[in-house]
Amino acid sequence: MEIDGGRSRITCTIDFDKDGRQAGYCRAPLSRNTAGWGTVEIPIIVVKNGKGPTLLLTGGVHGDEYEGPIAISRLARTLDPAKVQGRVIMLPAVNIPAIMADTRLSPIDGWDINRTFPGNPKGSFTQMLAHFLDSVILPMADLSLDMHTAGHSADSALSTNMHYLPDPAMREKTMAAASAFGAPFNAVFGGVDEGSTFTSCVERRGKISLGTELGGWGRVNIEGVRIARRGVDNIMKHMGIVEGVPDTTQRDGSPKTRHMMVRDPKAYVFAPRGGLFEPTHNVGDTVRVGEVAGWIHFIEDVDNPPIELTYGMSGVLWMGAGPGRCTRGDAVGVIMQDYQDNWS
Ligand SMILES: [Zn+2]
Repeated sequence: MEIDGGRSRITCTIDFDKDGRQAGYCRAPLSRNTAGWGTVEIPIIVVKNGKGPTLLLTGGVHGDEYEGPIAISRLARTLDPAKVQGRVIMLPAVNIPAIMADTRLSPIDGWDINRTFPGNPKGSFTQMLAHFLDSVILPMADLSLDMHTAGHSADSALSTNMHYLPDPAMREKTMAAASAFGAPFNAVFGGVDEGSTFTSCVERRGKISLGTELGGWGRVNIEGVRIARRGVDNIMKHMGIVEGVPDTTQRDGSPKTRHMMVRDPKAYVFAPRGGLFEPTHNVGDTVRVGEVAGWIHFIEDVDNPPIELTYGMSGVLWMGAGPGRCTRGDAVGVIMQDYQDNWS
């Protein structure tokens, strides 16, 4: 486990080269007041059979996003090694301290793990965990499917997402994986590669990176779980790990995923003031430029009328506002447009 800036302090009981099903834990050291040599146990399940590609499934990178962890842990209990050709590495609850606390950020050190990659083996707990994922787990994968939702902070149209990759071949492969996953939408976005996300690590290592946004608002989205479960099955079929053809039929009768893009700064509706936000649309709705996106109310002030917010462009609402009360500077809406492959 000697890679990139030092040895991981996280140990793992799994033999990744062994055929069959293994379930165990990655053990991360955490010194506590009550246990100087204490550990945090992160569930890991690996199903392998013979030679073939490796799929990495991660859920719970943020602790308040539930559809991915549900889909991955269901698969982890039921996937029959005899029906597998290749390997599936499943981490349904990556950020277990945040999951148990039901929070986006780590309750141990306050970090957002998805802003700390590639991490640091000698850093804080979250940095150590990020480093383990990047330097120990990721090199084994051919395709990473990292399953998120919008958490408590927003709601999302059910979608996969990916960066607009400069290499046309990788872009095509990633879009093919998104098409196979079969969410209603695939959001391709650019200009936001801050380098500290898991997606950026996957791309740096030359692997295929696919994310998801399958709900939010701190609840379990029923249709999000259905799409998540079907999506992981579809991806395994797409990679040839299990037999079969991906089922990508959509509820509206469409046979496939609608590819979208988020690239224009006008896609974001920001709150100019803090207040109580009344939205006008649900995620997945079609919206038009100039249309009312919602109102910020100041119900504590009898003479202060609400501020009306409008959309800066037309498209489909990808992300909708989260909790009722917004803070100045929050994005209370994000719009995606139909995809066009002409960015470079
Ligand atoms: Zn997330």
